Amino acid sequence: MDFWPTGYRCCVNLSFDYDSNSDEVRNVPFDIVARSRGRFAPKVAVPRILDLLDRLEIKATFFTPGWTVDMFTGSVENIVSRGHEIGAHGYLHEKLTELSFEAEEDVFHKSLTAMAKIGVKPIGFRAPYWLVGERTIKLLMRLGFRYDSSFMDNDMPYKLIRRQKYTGLIELPIEWMLDDWPLFETNKKSPEAVYNIWKPEFEGIYELGRYFGLTCHPQTIGRVSRLNMLEKLLSEMKEKGDVWFATCKETADWTRKKLSSSIRKET
Ligand SMILES: [Zn+2]
Repeated sequence: MDFWPTGYRCCVNLSFDYDSNSDEVRNVPFDIVARSRGRFAPKVAVPRILDLLDRLEIKATFFTPGWTVDMFTGSVENIVSRGHEIGAHGYLHEKLTELSFEAEEDVFHKSLTAMAKIGVKPIGFRAPYWLVGERTIKLLMRLGFRYDSSFMDNDMPYKLIRRQKYTGLIELPIEWMLDDWPLFETNKKSPEAVYNIWKPEFEGIYELGRYFGLTCHPQTIGRVSRLNMLEKLLSEMKEKGDVWFATCKETADWTRKKLSSSIRKET
């Protein structure tokens, strides 16, 4: 309850995995209709989401594959200029655990090169498909990342420990039930049904003073009825008056400071 900055009871973090059509380009390169779907994000959804975030005065984190930066550069630059954070998310939305060591290193290199072209050096990473290997963590440490957001073992951020040693990374845990993709895309739930999953989870997190990390995908959440639902949910959170809306970077920085004297053995 007393973990968060003074005056705040719980933390809400809003993140968008800005995949655009990276996954389809890698998986089904000749399916031009499938590839078109991801373009809904830069064309329609992201501008709509940015306007919503401005209205509610919330800053978010966009985990963005290098492909999205290279192909939809203006859109990503717009996100940055509106004050939001960019995190790394592979190059073509690769399944990192299926790659050779050299190929995984190359993915990170290409991803960071794309970001550097628009003057961004991400300090946070979220694995595509949330597939992370031990090797991935070593790469994150070597490349100077400060936090990861791919594990599912808590509803509070924590110091990421591997083999009894602090990696230097803060983990911002995620969870399938707080991800728009399986709910809307896989299970075809209505906005009302998703609201009825997210709202009680938030209320419980609020009561306990913990961390509510919501993962959305622009092409999924950016449809009108879903975005209206998200606006209603976020507005109700804001009305509480003591919810800390923080980007992943802000949450990780705060957690590192708060836990600086204690290294919990979380494996
Ligand atoms: Zn993704």
